[in-house]
Amino acid sequence: MQTVNADVIAITPLTDIIYKVTLKPAIAAEFEAGHYLQLVLGEKDKRAFSIASKPSQQNELELHIGTSAADSYAAQALDHLRHAFEQKAPVELEVGLGVSQLRIDCQRPIVLLAGGTGFSYVKSMADHLAEVGCEQPVLFYWGVKEESALYAKTEMEAWAASKENFHFIPVVETPQDAWDGHTGYVHQAVMQDITSLEPYSIYMAGRFDMIGIVRDDFIKHGAIREHMYADAFAFIK
Ligand SMILES: Cc1cc2nc3c(=O)[nH]c(=O)nc-3n(C[C@H](O)[C@H](O)[C@H](O)COP(=O)(O)OP(=O)(O)OC[C@H]3O[C@@H](n4cnc5c(N)ncnc54)[C@H](O)[C@@H]3O)c2cc1C
Repeated sequence: MQTVNADVIAITPLTDIIYKVTLKPAIAAEFEAGHYLQLVLGEKDKRAFSIASKPSQQNELELHIGTSAADSYAAQALDHLRHAFEQKAPVELEVGLGVSQLRIDCQRPIVLLAGGTGFSYVKSMADHLAEVGCEQPVLFYWGVKEESALYAKTEMEAWAASKENFHFIPVVETPQDAWDGHTGYVHQAVMQDITSLEPYSIYMAGRFDMIGIVRDDFIKHGAIREHMYADAFAFIK
């Protein structure tokens, strides 16, 4: 873990409630794809956010922060970042945290599974995999409640088009009539598409209640617990 000060370079809306935050660390940030950082609000108040940017981009960190009305945890963090941006003051970060970073052995096909802003966690891995040149299939599933929340759909379609073994599957829980892709919960789409999850390494991020359900359903669908990764596992039973 590395403690580093960073300037807030930009805060840009991605949707009505999700913001992209760009940070410039004072020294090169050291982390692996899938690590998270903590934004230090106080000595005992540190807020966890996945690092959306790839590790080779050490001098600029990207976060995606969702701020629904029910979630003051993220909204307070965003207020802290906005205040620092306006004051041109640095924020304090703890970088390189987590145990669910990408294992690049390239021996197993990979499922990257994101619910909502869990996208940030797997986006870093997807971009890193594009750089390291792994030949195993990589299936990137992104589940959202409404189509308008797929704020990086075009970017991910371009990622999938860049390599034959990359696949991007967006899943909209409650779509409008025009949507012709997968619907419902994102992990159910995975289980519809893949007969057995036994061969796969699976990386997942999303709401805590979601991750508990996905873990149990995936194990019933053949997934091997030792090849399932989520930092939320540390917070749930
Ligand atoms: C280490 C760590 C890092 C974090 N990083 C971030 C971050 O970078 N940004 C951030 O905003 N928050 C972060 N959080 C907080 C938390 O992960 C988010 O609050 C969560 O991902 C938000 O999901 P959402 O509201 O966008 O999903 P929603 O919009 O509620 O759901 C999106 C999709 O997830 C699936 N889903 C949701 N609920 C269920 C369910 N009960 N069963 C099955 N599927 C379900 C569905 O497919 C649904 O369409 C982090 C937390 C930790 C512990």
